[in-house]
Amino acid sequence: MEKVYSSLNEIKEDISNNGLSCVSLVESYLNRIEENKHLNAFLEVFTDEALAFAKDVDAKIANNTAGKLAGMVIAIKDNICYKGHKVSASSKILEGFESLYSATVVERLLAEDAIVIGRTNCDEFAMGSSNENSAYGNVLNALDNTKTPGGSSGGSAVAVQANLCLASLGSDTGGSVRQPASFCDVLGMKPTYGRVSRHGLIAYASSFDQIGPFTRSVGDMALITEVISGGDEFDTTCSKQAVPNLSENLGFDKKLKLTYFKSYIENEGLDAEVKGRFYEIIENLKADGHTVEETEFEYLDYLVPTYYVLTTAEASSNLARFDGVHFGYRSPNGTDLESTYKFSRTEGFGKEVKRRIMLGTYVLSAGFYDAYYTKGQKVRRLIKDKTEQVLKDYDFILTPTSPHTPFEIGKQNDDQIKMYLEDIYTAQAPIAGVPAISLPLGQHSNGLPFGFQVMAKSFGEQELLSFSKYLMDNN
Ligand code: GLN
Repeated sequence: MEKVYSSLNEIKEDISNNGLSCVSLVESYLNRIEENKHLNAFLEVFTDEALAFAKDVDAKIANNTAGKLAGMVIAIKDNICYKGHKVSASSKILEGFESLYSATVVERLLAEDAIVIGRTNCDEFAMGSSNENSAYGNVLNALDNTKTPGGSSGGSAVAVQANLCLASLGSDTGGSVRQPASFCDVLGMKPTYGRVSRHGLIAYASSFDQIGPFTRSVGDMALITEVISGGDEFDTTCSKQAVPNLSENLGFDKKLKLTYFKSYIENEGLDAEVKGRFYEIIENLKADGHTVEETEFEYLDYLVPTYYVLTTAEASSNLARFDGVHFGYRSPNGTDLESTYKFSRTEGFGKEVKRRIMLGTYVLSAGFYDAYYTKGQKVRRLIKDKTEQVLKDYDFILTPTSPHTPFEIGKQNDDQIKMYLEDIYTAQAPIAGVPAISLPLGQHSNGLPFGFQVMAKSFGEQELLSFSKYLMDNN
């Protein structure tokens, strides 16, 4: 591709002043997707349809009737439904399944004239931190093909990293947008629980799941978030709270009161350079007149266990519907109803998904329900209350997004504890329901990137994005 765009504004500028058309823009993205096929970021590219849509958008631009995302070429994670298109959650069990309706987020993107270019690879049912759990192969980090892009929204992150589209949507249950954003040097945000409709998102853990964007600029993050946010009659957990004009209010001139937690940073699991850079940003903030206080959060060690007890419980219930009868893959080996269920689920689900269904079934079983599930809910409440309290006392909580830079493909996938600990810094926000963003502010001497995470108050996206813009401009 001749030119690499970092924001919709740059594209709009070229459309207005330099004769760029959406058709030629889509063509150049399609070329790049073809050239970068080895990255395995896309499971399907909607070539003809994207070109046809681009032609329509060009006509609307000429008539001055185009929506605010005209010129935005976007990819969607393969767990977001788009009517008449395949959706598989990167699972064999949904092989061949086509969406009967579109997710609310897709409807809203299309209504503003975004061009959906394809669906992206991910960990099966969004369970994983490296994209190694996809039934359709690994996604490669574009910066170093031996490294993972993170997960579970690895394909969505790489699509933006490698300029295969301008932006993408992922889903974040415990870090699946923010951790791959950190690994791929792009921005990734998990909005407040209930800010964005989950209608049409294939559920993993319904009380945690949120759809969130990957972008190369804060402006695009704000724009996409404002388009996809807001009440939806199809999702009763989606808030009706008014959506501010996020993208028009990114100015920032406040002196803030910020905090970070000592045990998160003075932790032997944290890479020394990631830590060094974290403190450097803290010093910059102080030098600019902000107050940054070191405090403590006593539940750090409970975040990952709480997350896995509760999300596997929800997953075991959500994934019960994939039985070989209602959707997708049906085993040819079944001889009656029960064996059809058994064979279809045994053959259709991958190893990690089966592990989680079994874990979740265990924590919900009669004898262990109180010991695990009820206890997990109680600990979630403690974490949520304490997080909210901290966010009453401080404007934002600062942490690294991930303790390290991208790890090698194949190195860690047999060590479940290690893999689950990938979520150490990202699990808190979805446990508490608060919004969090990963900003690409770290460059390691090993040549790989890492992110800086900011957590904000519930429905504090406007403040979070304004502060993000300031951080990106000043670091
Ligand atoms: N890595 C986490 C997990 O495997 C997060 C996944 C997600 O956010 N969907 O569950």
